[in-house]
Amino acid sequence: MKKTPARLLTLYRLLDWSDRDKCLLLSVLLWGYMGLVYLWHLFTVHFTDFARQFVSAEGAEVMNQVMILNQVGWLGLIAWGSLLRRRERHSRYYPVAFMSFFSIGFLLLAWTVGFYSPMTGMVLMGSPLVGFILFGFPQVAWNFAFSVLVVLLLAWLSVLEYSAHAIYFITYPITREVVSYYWVASTVAFMVPFIATVITLISLLLRRWIYREAQIRDQAVHDPLTGLANRRELFRLLAHELARGRRSGLPMAICIMDLDHFKRINDQYGHGAGDRVLVKMAETLNACLRESDLVGRIGGEEFVLVMPETDADGAANVLERCRDAIASTKVILDDGGILHVTASFGAIIWLADAAGQTPRSEAQLLSLADQALYQAKEQGRNRVLFWQDAYQTTSSAV
Ligand code: GH3
Ligand code: MG
Ligand code: MG
Repeated sequence: MKKTPARLLTLYRLLDWSDRDKCLLLSVLLWGYMGLVYLWHLFTVHFTDFARQFVSAEGAEVMNQVMILNQVGWLGLIAWGSLLRRRERHSRYYPVAFMSFFSIGFLLLAWTVGFYSPMTGMVLMGSPLVGFILFGFPQVAWNFAFSVLVVLLLAWLSVLEYSAHAIYFITYPITREVVSYYWVASTVAFMVPFIATVITLISLLLRRWIYREAQIRDQAVHDPLTGLANRRELFRLLAHELARGRRSGLPMAICIMDLDHFKRINDQYGHGAGDRVLVKMAETLNACLRESDLVGRIGGEEFVLVMPETDADGAANVLERCRDAIASTKVILDDGGILHVTASFGAIIWLADAAGQTPRSEAQLLSLADQALYQAKEQGRNRVLFWQDAYQTTSSAV
């Protein structure tokens, strides 16, 4: 499986934070963001021609109050969240307060500068998306529904001229006659960080899905102890190799390996030592085989080796090498003790369409290899035995 950088894993973990911590982080970000909006407002009102041309005195005052309320609100939420964190406590009211304040703060700002702007659309679109990613569906859905209703209500009232729409402005800075570039540039500048956050979170969520799916797929096909292919995966790979062998007409060796007297190791040294032996044996087998060969763990201490495009002589060589490597491998235990193990191998050479024989299924081949293994155990263990040699004298392959 492709490795994921540690930095990304830390980011994925952000999605698993508690609601309290996520709200706290967002409160800090929104406090900073709104602080910048406030600074923009102060700068605009005091130092720009834009304010003289477009901003009403009453609107500037309302904006001041809205911004102060925002700062106080976010600071209050930061203090509340920090307190909960310090006391290692959670409160279900905290996320509710966070979301409600977010909606109210957004509605007040939108009401002050006008609803019909790309900014309003973006916040209405982006906030629930971020909300659904980070928080539960119902909480966010309620706030979203409430905000949309209020926007529609205020828009309707402003059409009926009951409410002063965009009270920040004397005249709106974007009309058919005038387009204020200062306003356009400011809107874009404030949209960029918001959009960037939304996109980052969504891409993070998607990447985590992909990562988790790969992880689950990986776990489904590998044995957790040794990392080798598990029984299901091995059967799948073997079927694939048999299909290839039928096409190429080349022989293939299939072998079951079983550790000798393994029960004694567990009984004498404990299960932990037994597991360590299994891991070491998997490494030894991997080191002995070619990259195109397959190794899998199909049971407790039974491994299957598949060697495509390998005839009897080749397989005998490789398996003898494996047997020897296992017998000479030292397994060092926690207490410094050294363990030696041996293994028995039962193998079978398969040939596509061998004269007069129907090519066998994966299960049949493994069962014949198992018969050879039984014979290897009978004959004294720590040896390689081929089914053809043990049970058949006329044909060299099945
Ligand atoms: P033989 O030479 O006849 O193969 O003797 P053996 O003791 O190895 O007999 P067998 O193959 O039947 O023993 C299987 C033992 O493997 C039983 C159990 O104690 C051990 N075993 C099976 N799975 C695991 C495992 O995942 N971890 C460990 N530590 N031991 C396991
Ligand atoms: Mg055994
Ligand atoms: Mg066994």
